[in-house]
Amino acid sequence: MDAELATLCQACGLCCDGSLFGRVPLAPGEAASARRNRLLVLDSERGFEQPCTALSVRDTRSGPEHVCSIYRERPTACRSFACRLYDRHEREGGPLEPRLAAVQRVRQLVADLQAQGLSPTDFEADPGNPSRPSESAKLAYAELMRRLEEDFARA
Ligand code: SF4
Ligand code: SF4
Repeated sequence: MDAELATLCQACGLCCDGSLFGRVPLAPGEAASARRNRLLVLDSERGFEQPCTALSVRDTRSGPEHVCSIYRERPTACRSFACRLYDRHEREGGPLEPRLAAVQRVRQLVADLQAQGLSPTDFEADPGNPSRPSESAKLAYAELMRRLEEDFARA
């Protein structure tokens, strides 16, 4: 099971690459270690910025592999985070492929929107904005939000 969960997270990386979080909290006393590991620590020392500078992405035959380069020294918040998809697989087991497919679908939706130069703020209701997103982009965004909530919110 541990190997399957590692495979899932390595295929995903959404909780490290800025897709889910803009910032990650640091516990008291963790700022020095985070700086030593070249994380982008906030002036307040209460967190660090994402996309995480410790995230390493390698191309493999089965797709990009996401690896934390400071895994043994990662902050407490990183150690304690589990998304719903991860949690479901850990509790229920079953085939890994549908979980990996869920990751791939979210990654595809993010890539599609980025290819159109869109960010989440572009989807806020603004009927007077002539450059507002197309209907297809709105549908993609709605599916992305639904999937993030169902599978990638904190378990
Ligand atoms: S979002 Fe979930 S599946 Fe993806 S890397 Fe984080 S814990 Fe793993
Ligand atoms: S320190 Fe590691 S686990 Fe934490 S956000 Fe960065 S890459 Fe992810």
